[in-house]
Formats: sequence, C-alpha cells, structure tokens
Amino acid sequence: MITMKFGGTSVGDVPQLRKITEIVRVGNGRCPVVVASAMSGVTDLLLSTAQSALRNETARINAAIEALSQKHSQVAGALVTRPENRDKLLGYYARLLEELGIIYQGVGLLEELSPRSLDAIASFGERLSCAQIAAVFNDAGIAAEYVDARGLILTDANFGRASVDFAATRANIQRVLTPLVEKNIVPVVTGFIAATKDGVTTTLGRSGSDYTGAIVGAALGSEEIWIWTDVDGVMTADPRYVAGARHLPEISYREAAEMSYFGANVIHPKTMLPAIENNIPIRIKNTFNPSHPGTLISNKTRGAAGAVKNVTSIDDLALVAVEGHGMMGVPGVAARIFTALARVNVSVMMISQASSEHNVCLVIPRKDRQPAVEALQNEFASDIAGKTIDDVRLRDGVAIIAVVGEGMQGVPGIAGKTFAATARENVSIIAVAQGSSELNISLVVDHGDARRAVQAIHDAFII
Ligand code: ADP
Ligand code: ASP
Ligand code: MG
Repeated sequence: MITMKFGGTSVGDVPQLRKITEIVRVGNGRCPVVVASAMSGVTDLLLSTAQSALRNETARINAAIEALSQKHSQVAGALVTRPENRDKLLGYYARLLEELGIIYQGVGLLEELSPRSLDAIASFGERLSCAQIAAVFNDAGIAAEYVDARGLILTDANFGRASVDFAATRANIQRVLTPLVEKNIVPVVTGFIAATKDGVTTTLGRSGSDYTGAIVGAALGSEEIWIWTDVDGVMTADPRYVAGARHLPEISYREAAEMSYFGANVIHPKTMLPAIENNIPIRIKNTFNPSHPGTLISNKTRGAAGAVKNVTSIDDLALVAVEGHGMMGVPGVAARIFTALARVNVSVMMISQASSEHNVCLVIPRKDRQPAVEALQNEFASDIAGKTIDDVRLRDGVAIIAVVGEGMQGVPGIAGKTFAATARENVSIIAVAQGSSELNISLVVDHGDARRAVQAIHDAFII
C-alpha cells in the first residue's frame, strides 16, 4: 500500500484534479491512501481574511467567501457530473462557508483573533478540498471516502504547531482507514489539521500536510510515502531563486530533514520523523510530470565523498547576541538562554558560541525578536548590573544559509570553499555554526546578501 500526499498546486484547479485522478487510478492496484492539502492559495486567503475580520472589513470577508465558493464550485461543475452528487457537494460547500462567515463575524465582534481561532479558520481549506477530491474520484469511478483528520490525529493544544500523540493517533488511523483500504475504497484524508482530545481543532504548522502524509503512511505500514508536488523532486537549491539548480535522485532522511529545516520548503522538516522510525522510503514526485522518478528519501545516501547536496536559505530571522568579557566565569549561560527563551515559546534556529566565551549568538524567527530580547534581558538582569555581561544585542533582518550533504563528513576544505565563494561576492558573514555530525555548515548573513550568497556557494560546489 502507498500513501500519497497531494500538495496545494496538485489539487489547485480542474486540470490538476484530472491529473491526480489518473495518478490514483493507475495506483489503484497498490491501494493508495490519499492525504491532501487545501487548493493552492486557499490557506493564505483564509488567514489573511481573518486579519480583515479583526478589523471588521465586511466587504473583504464577503469577497473572500465568494472567491472560495467560486473556486470550489467550478471544480464541482466540471468534475462532478452526476447531479445528485454535485448538489450534495455544493450543499456541503455552502454549509462550511456559512459556518466560516459566522466565525469571521465572531472575530470582528470580539475583536480577538487567538491562535486557536486561526487554526479553526485554517481548517476550512483542507475540509473543502478533501471532500471535493473524494467526490471527484467517485465521479470518475474510483470508490473514495472523505476522512476528516480531526477524528484521527490527536495533538496537544499548542495551536499553530501542535504536537502529535502518536499512540492514540496510530490506533485511530488503523481503526478508521484499514477497513476502507480492505474494501478497496480510497480514503481522502485532510492534511494539516488535527484536534485535541477534547475535539478542539489544531494544525500541525504551515505546510504540515506533508507531515500528515507521513503520520498516516507510518501508522498504516505503507510500503512508501509519495509526496506529489510541482517540481521533479528535491533539487540542489530552490529552483525559483537559483539558476542551475539540479535534480537529486536520492538523498538520506537526515539530509532531507536538514535542508528542509533550513528553508528547502519542498518538504516539511517533520515529515521524515515517522518515516525514519518505521523505515519507510519517501518519494517526492511531480504531478505535472508523473513519469519522472522523482527523489527517493531513505536511510541510504549516495554521492561522492565531499559532495555538497544542497544550498538553501531561510529568511525573516533576527540575531540576538549575549555578550560580555565576564561571561567566561558565569556558569550555564547557554542553558539559561534556552530556558528563558523556552518560557516565552521562542525556538532557537541556530546557536554559535566563540570558544573565548565572550559572545553567544542565537538566531530566532524575526517575529519573536521582542519577547526574546526582553526575556534575555530579564534573565541576565543581575549579570548586566554586575557587569559580567555587557548587554543583549539585537541585529534585525538576517538570513541563515545552510550547506548540506552527508558526504561532507570528514572532508577538509568545505568551509574554506564556502567562505571563498561568499568573499568573492563581497558578502560578510555574521556568524557560523557547524553541527558535530558535519552534515551541514550554517552561515548567518545580512538579509539583503542571502540570494547572492546562495547562488555563489551553489556555483562553487554544484557544477
Ligand atoms: P506543495 O503545495 O506541493 O506542498 P510547496 O510549494 O510546499 O508545494 O513545495 C514545492 C516548492 O518548493 C517548489 O515549487 C520549489 O519552488 C520549492 N523548493 C524550495 N527548495 C527546493 C528544493 N531544494 N528542491 C525542490 N524544490 C524546492
Ligand atoms: N494548506 C496548508 C498550508 O498552506 C498545509 C499544506 O498545504 O501543507 O500551509
Ligand atoms: Mg508544501
């Protein structure tokens, strides 16, 4: 059995839905289980309209709901031919969109938009899309059933990026999906969304449908997890920004996790976890070019020694430095930094400490910069007063560039070549970190330099 996850662009319009119907039909001998995203652009529209709702911009809300209705109805009109099925689907859209309108109204009346409300609002995208896909499959003669993942995937209440309760989730998935697969009915499961044990809607984080695909695939013991998207697979860099990016036929789980963590958004970083634990290969495939073999992600790695597989960057970050000559004698500085930031729910993307211990640099999401600086200033208030620590300094608008590849391990000169490439482009490096696994080198550069630096490093390694 194969679990197939289809991303937003793969389910984003009538021609694409026709294509995935054929892909699932061809795969029917392998009992595919489908996980899908919202139609492309829908999650962004739902979330931006939530901000309009907060400002009581009624015209914008109405326009968004109308646009959603049109986008989906167009699919029903073109791809659900049997009148009773089409009417049923149109009725379902209407009910959902009415409920969405009431939620937006509530946001405006209360003038409050919590992470919990945002998750409830975002959930409509996958609920509309997956009910639609199941109807399209049925109309094309493929027996399919819409499954709302809120009845399967249980999480904590960390809205916006909830953590999964794997034991309960696995049992639910097996209980609900296995009987469908046995009857040769294709389950069409909503990606991205989940629920707490009390039934409150949560989400797994933006782009989280990949992760849903892996959770479902692992719980069912799938032979492989296929992530269908709009590129031929994982490339040596983001093809939208880097000229000459090449396709990678095979990479390891660790490489995939590392590159996606640092911005290669072709796959969500958490996707690899359930796959690794159950040793299930992941394949990235192109809906626009289905005969292409794609990229295989498994526990094997191939490539020449010293091979750099990917150069990637992640933007919208800030650098916070805790500095002071007296820091050498202060015990547990790093531990205190992490604890203080965890208290305000800020995750650290990268940490770098000079061996002289005069300076600890942290890179965090830019949106968290204010609470992070405040938390650190509070934590180190007495050290600052006692002058063992000078200050907590903020540098706004930085990017991390990561150079990733298992083959880098033990190969000298990778860092030198990286720095030579950035120097040629006149890019100054603000901080550097290298994991002890030598799977990646990460550099912090000014936001404005990131694109040039990625291209230069890519050109230096990947010919
Ligand atoms: P989906 O909607 O299918 O989930 P995404 O937009 O999330 O698709 O991911 C696919 C996109 O990821 C590609 O169109 C590509 O621009 C981008 N991308 C970024 N880095 C890479 C990379 N290293 N290899 C391939 N694609 C990448
Ligand atoms: N629809 C969600 C998003 O846009 C989840 C996903 O597509 O993976 O973030
Ligand atoms: Mg994606």
